[in-house]
Amino acid sequence: MEPILLRARGTKNSRSIAAYRSAGGYRAIAKALKMEPAAVIAEVKASGLRGRGGAGFPTGVKWGFVPKDSPKPKYLICNADESEPGTFKDREIIHVDPHMLIEGIAISSHAIGANVAYIYIRGEFHAEALMLEAAIAEAAGAGFLGKNILGSGFDLEVHVHRGAGAYICGEETALIESLEGKRGLPRLKPPFPAVVGLFGCPTVVNNVETLACVPHILERGGAWYAAIGTERSTGPKLFSVSGHVNRPGVYEVAMGVSFREIIDGLCGGVRGGRALKAFIPGGSSCPVLPADKVDIGCDFESVAAAGSMLGSGGLIVMDETVDMVWALENLLTFYAHESCGQCTPCREGSDWALDVVRRIRRGFGRPQDLETLERIARFASQGMTICPLGDAFCEPIKSFLKHFGHEFEAAIAAAQPLPAAKTPVLPLRSGHGWYGS
Ligand code: SF4
Repeated sequence: MEPILLRARGTKNSRSIAAYRSAGGYRAIAKALKMEPAAVIAEVKASGLRGRGGAGFPTGVKWGFVPKDSPKPKYLICNADESEPGTFKDREIIHVDPHMLIEGIAISSHAIGANVAYIYIRGEFHAEALMLEAAIAEAAGAGFLGKNILGSGFDLEVHVHRGAGAYICGEETALIESLEGKRGLPRLKPPFPAVVGLFGCPTVVNNVETLACVPHILERGGAWYAAIGTERSTGPKLFSVSGHVNRPGVYEVAMGVSFREIIDGLCGGVRGGRALKAFIPGGSSCPVLPADKVDIGCDFESVAAAGSMLGSGGLIVMDETVDMVWALENLLTFYAHESCGQCTPCREGSDWALDVVRRIRRGFGRPQDLETLERIARFASQGMTICPLGDAFCEPIKSFLKHFGHEFEAAIAAAQPLPAAKTPVLPLRSGHGWYGS
């Protein structure tokens, strides 16, 4: 497949507006501004574009939820928070081709009737925030942002807003709270942001990669885009590959190619010639898959049928040397730290699960520990919490026990009995356990 989202990678001064325009950039906005917003939405619907941030919801359908008759202002928010472990593809778009994102924001704002758009970027992306601010200034100087864009009568201002690095602010309602100047706590849904979002107004939140696809769809047509990939998972997809491969990095493929093609082909195989043990297809919150699933396609349906999620495309590769008890402890350490604390099952469950797994790994597991983990995972997921972070730490637990439960059982079978004087009555809080000393 010809590069689409990464077409500018390797070209000189690719972040400049001159380079972008010489590659055909900002032609799509000129075309879109001559179209009715409904026609722009129809084109995106025809493309089959689905959100690239994790949920995979159809983008055109999401835009269609914004009430057209609302007297309130409407907002577009570009979610550049990108804090899912293993995911670093949005950063690549900003690094290589920020004007592609800005053009996508401008077209999408026109489609939903927004005159103000925000790019919410995680605080750690300092260099990327500066790159975006420079690109916005260039675009405004060339008449692609600001008042009466290209003489169309459409106005748009775009602001970069830096978060403080909280994972939960990647969740759209927590992001909106944070953008409003409050603590980033997820809201209960409904109402959904399309109706009650930023400052109580209709708001669309789209991921960087999603918005970057929009200029290409407008320029080359929804049918062209829909012809790439599979029937229900259309278009190109970026995968950020990390872990035990020879060439980690960001790769662009058509939806549906196999994970084997990505790992063995693009990434040069597993490091050191070792065997593949497992991979997480879409970022750390997605269920882990064993090596025998490596031939499935990288599309929403195939990954779901295999028992995981495509998520954000953060492909984490683990070779045969990985201790899966350690790997789960590593993931849970992150989620226990990032729980915002609003919901008891998530706040207590993530810490509790981490304590149990940490105890198993340190050689003091108990026979009842696996049942305890399964119960925590059952009670903190599938709608028991305000936001999906409950699922984000529970799905890894379930999948690690499903595919690699024998490693946990072996660790428990080899465990030392707890010293009687120090046996805790209740699970100890993370970081304060006696076993940490
Ligand atoms: Fe906060 Fe966790 Fe509840 Fe989400 S699920 S709102 S992160 S406590």
